Amino acid sequence: MSKTSDDFDAEALYRTLLGQVRDGLAGVGDAAIVGIHSGGAWLAERLARDLDLNGRLGFIDVSFYRDDYAKKGLHPDVKPTHIPFNVDGATIVLVDDVLFTGRTTRAAINVLFDYGRPQRIVLAALVDRGGRELPVAADFAGARVTLKPGQSLALLKNADGQLSLTIEED
Ligand code: 5GP
Ligand code: MG
Repeated sequence: MSKTSDDFDAEALYRTLLGQVRDGLAGVGDAAIVGIHSGGAWLAERLARDLDLNGRLGFIDVSFYRDDYAKKGLHPDVKPTHIPFNVDGATIVLVDDVLFTGRTTRAAINVLFDYGRPQRIVLAALVDRGGRELPVAADFAGARVTLKPGQSLALLKNADGQLSLTIEED
C-alpha cells in the first residue's frame, strides 16, 4: 500500500463544508446534526460545536442496517445509536466523512425514521468520491473527487485534532 502525501488540505475542505452547512441552515429553526459512526461522528461533533448545535447532536451506527452486512462478513465494533432530540419535524443534517455508493446513507435514513418523522434530511460529507449505486446525493460536500480503480481515501485525525486526507493505492 503506497500513499501520496498532502493530496488535500483537509482543514480547508472542512471549512468549505462548514460554510455550506451554515448557509444551508440559515433561517432553519429546528436544525439538528447526526453523525454516522465512526468517520462521521467526530465530524458531526465538530460541526455541532462550530454551529452552536451541541444540544442537537446525535449519532447513529448503521452496521446492522447495511444491506451488504452479510456479504462483507463484517464483525463491526457496533457503537450505540444515540438521538437525544425529537426527530419529528426536525431538519437533520446527516454527516459522514466519505460518500461512496450511498448504501451507508440509505441505511442511516432508515435508522432516523425508526425515531420519528423528520421534516427534512440533508446530507453533508467531507468528500464525495462518486461511485454511487443508489439515488443519493450530497447537499454539502467539502470536495468531490474521482478516484482511479484501486484507490481510496485515507482520512486521519492527528493528535492535535487536525485532519489529513490522502489518496491510498491498494
Ligand atoms: P458508501 O456506503 O457510500 O459506499 O460508503 C460510505 C461509508 O464508507 C462511509 O461511512 C465512509 O466512512 C466509508 N468509506 C467509503 N469509501 C471510503 C474511502 O475511500 N475512505 C474512507 N476513509 N472511508 C470510506
Ligand atoms: Mg464510515
